[in-house]
Amino acid sequence: MDYNEDKIDEYTLALLYLVTHERHEGLGARAWKGFDWETLNRLHKKGYITNPVVTAKSVTMTEEGFRKSQELFKRHFIKEIKTLPFPKLTPSAKKRWEQIPEEIRKNILENVWCSKCRTMVALQLREGQISGRSVVLKGTCKICGGDAARVIEPDA
Ligand SMILES: [Zn+2]
Repeated sequence: MDYNEDKIDEYTLALLYLVTHERHEGLGARAWKGFDWETLNRLHKKGYITNPVVTAKSVTMTEEGFRKSQELFKRHFIKEIKTLPFPKLTPSAKKRWEQIPEEIRKNILENVWCSKCRTMVALQLREGQISGRSVVLKGTCKICGGDAARVIEPDA
């Protein structure tokens, strides 16, 4: 198998942050080491961890290694919820949406079903359009950052 070793090293180092169980400010940290052996050896050669060939179940991260691990973890794994200040609604959707009293609109946006969270969540509105006779609002779940949508049926 031909794979990008530097990339594996980068992600492994980032994941070490997740399994850090002892932090010694200025002196590094200790992390569980259930990772690929060759990768750990490469991280050792790069100066991020001490020699992993010891019997302990955890590995010692150097101060440089811990800081790099923390930085990479944030870069690769922290969720960022992108917020767009102005939701894009088509003119007809905007017209229909704005006919709804503000209080009810607010209530609608705060009670949107998120299939990932499996609960009602608040929606960060991103776009809206007319579909058939309904207004379809699409946006981002404020809890998990996933896509969620709400259909507003026309009044009977
Ligand atoms: Zn969600």
